[in-house]
Amino acid sequence: MADTPTPAPAEIELKGIGVSPGVVVGPVFLATTEEERLVERDIAEEEIPREIARFEEALIVTRQQIHEIQQKVTEAIGQESASIFDAHLLVVDDRSFVEEVIRGLGDQRRNVESVLSVVADRYAQALARLEDDYLRERAADVRDVTRRILRNLAGRSASLLSRLDRPYLIIANDLAPSETATLNREKVLGFATDLGSPTSHTAIMARALSIPAIVGLHDVSVRVSTGDPVLIDGHKGLLYIHPTRERLEEYGKIAEARQSIQARLSDLREQRPVTRDGYELTLSANIEMPGDVDSVLAAGATGVGLFRTEYIYLSMQHLPTEEEQTAAYEEVARRVAPEPCIIRTLDLGGDKFLSHLKTPSELNPFMGWRAIRFCLAQPEIFKTQLRAILRASRHENVRIMYPMVSNVGEVLRANAFLEEAKNELRLQDAPFNEAIEVGVMIEVPSAAITADLIAPHVAFFSLGTNDLVQYTLAVDRVNERVAYLYEPTHPAIVHLIRNTIDVAHQHGIWVGICGEMAGNPVMTPLLLGLGVDELSMSPSAIPLVKEVVRSLRFTEAEELARKVLPSGSAAEVLEACRELTGRVAPDVLELVS
Ligand code: PEP
Ligand code: MG
Repeated sequence: MADTPTPAPAEIELKGIGVSPGVVVGPVFLATTEEERLVERDIAEEEIPREIARFEEALIVTRQQIHEIQQKVTEAIGQESASIFDAHLLVVDDRSFVEEVIRGLGDQRRNVESVLSVVADRYAQALARLEDDYLRERAADVRDVTRRILRNLAGRSASLLSRLDRPYLIIANDLAPSETATLNREKVLGFATDLGSPTSHTAIMARALSIPAIVGLHDVSVRVSTGDPVLIDGHKGLLYIHPTRERLEEYGKIAEARQSIQARLSDLREQRPVTRDGYELTLSANIEMPGDVDSVLAAGATGVGLFRTEYIYLSMQHLPTEEEQTAAYEEVARRVAPEPCIIRTLDLGGDKFLSHLKTPSELNPFMGWRAIRFCLAQPEIFKTQLRAILRASRHENVRIMYPMVSNVGEVLRANAFLEEAKNELRLQDAPFNEAIEVGVMIEVPSAAITADLIAPHVAFFSLGTNDLVQYTLAVDRVNERVAYLYEPTHPAIVHLIRNTIDVAHQHGIWVGICGEMAGNPVMTPLLLGLGVDELSMSPSAIPLVKEVVRSLRFTEAEELARKVLPSGSAAEVLEACRELTGRVAPDVLELVS
């Protein structure tokens, strides 16, 4: 009988939260653990052929692995010991076992992991109840082989992320910042995760890498296998598994239109961020690693407004030494000079952990032993970093910034450690900038409300709106279930930003914003109208924000801020922002919506 051709797998569309713009097509690299992959779910009828194919592929790989183990055991301890694996092969080749799983897919409409677990369990239990010793022992073989098949269904482990052999789209239940920090950036075309929200650090990293990304897809990691073709639309938060030819053509045309807008915007590189009526503000860049400076320079940013130094710690297996840190900070400072380089001290905790530090796990890590709290309690770690930043400050553009300050006492204590670090360097005759400027992040509501108490002790403020929104609105910034409540245009946030800016200016210091809000061009007119001096963002956002600034009049931005300040809802404020951005820079709105 002639083989009937296998029909092309049906396209599946999933909707999540687009967190980094761009469209990309490529093969999946599934970075989930076995436990995550064991998520049980219902499947639609058209998914059954794909689940069968996944199962059969996993059986082939499992058989091959058992043969390899058998061969190694034979070489090491002889054929007799290796023969125990014959029983494992019998399980993989047992047609009634395999067919029962395949039948179960249709009968139960559950994914292959669920059906396989149930069938294998039944087999193992039936064998375990038998009188015969030999057959009873076979129960363990069934369990062992099932675990291996499940592992193969799950794809390769997340630790392989750093060793990808070709470009892939990474799909995971979630990605820890420590994993994103060790990614081979050239081999990652895009991200998509089940969990996460726009200000999770995975999302921030995707924007830093300028690669399309979607988070909050709920179960994408149990719907794909390594190698599946997938299309990611990071603008709209849409993901297509097995995209059809029509879909690819449609996206090809959209991509062409977007590219021509992008090309026009990248010509703005040499232009100043100045409004039509002559008001200039600073657009600087957020970076995670020294290598990000290439994109800072390419985007024409005015220096670095936020260097998230914890990524240096996350990318190493040990605490970075003073020398290692000095080298990293100096490299960035030297390359962006004479523009500023604002180095934020260690912001560990929250969703960023160092496994080798063995800090106790917490029920509420974002409100726990994080950032400046951790540093003040670990003077050796803190002072090592302060000395490294001071050493780098012989390039005079270096500034220091403390994260997550919640009261003025923390600033005073941090400054006292800074003085100690300076004294230690003086004793060594090591050069540094005696007048190094120190600023704080305003990202805890108590700091925003009491900004007048903090201002006399610092040279600048930078509003960390990612955390300010989560703490003010009591919405976990990495939880996709409450992402709908995460509203940067909530009137409470607008008022806190306004208060912080006014207080800073009354004290004669400048104020920036380095949360993700700063890189959202829809927000640019509002932030400008509220009087902010600097916006620091992912380098990829610079051309879009600059286009909006250059298309606006400062008076229009002020008028918008005045109009929305009494607004009662986040939606109202957002709509007013979209209206103005769309009117002055329609191309930009087109690119981001
Ligand atoms: C912020 O909270 O807005 C911020 C910039 O810091 P991070 O995102 O690193 O917490
Ligand atoms: Mg923060």
